[in-house]
Amino acid sequence: MGEIVHPLRRSVFRGLAGRCPACGKGPLFWRYLKVNGRCESCDTDLARYPADDGPAYLTILLIGHLVVAPMLFFPIVWRANPAYSLPLILIPLAALTLAVLPRVKGGWVGMMYALGVKNTDAALHTADAAD
Ligand SMILES: [Zn+2]
Repeated sequence: MGEIVHPLRRSVFRGLAGRCPACGKGPLFWRYLKVNGRCESCDTDLARYPADDGPAYLTILLIGHLVVAPMLFFPIVWRANPAYSLPLILIPLAALTLAVLPRVKGGWVGMMYALGVKNTDAALHTADAAD
C-alpha cells in the first residue's frame, strides 16, 4: 500500500465515468452503488477495492463546500418563507447529492485500484489494530 500500482489519473477518471478502472469498458456498478464483483470486459476483481464510507464523506464535503456554503451568501435563502424555500432548496440538493455520489464512489474505487489498496489490507482497519 502507498505505491501507485496503476496510472492514477486514468483509473480515477474511468471510475468517475462509471467504468472499470482497469479497462474502461465494463460497467463499474450493477446497481446504483453496487460495484460489480468482476468486470464483464476484462475480468478484473473489482469487489476487492474498498470504498466503505469514503465516497459518502467526500460527497458531503464537495456538496457542502461547493453548493451549500455559497448558497448561504444569498439573502433570499434567509428571507424567503421556509414553507417555500426549504422544498425548493432541499429537493434539488438531495437530487444533486444522489447524482454525484455514484461518480464519487466510482472515482474512489478507481483511486483504490490505482493505489493497489485492497479490502484485505490490515492497515486500513485502524480500529482493528487498536484492539
Ligand atoms: Zn475491466
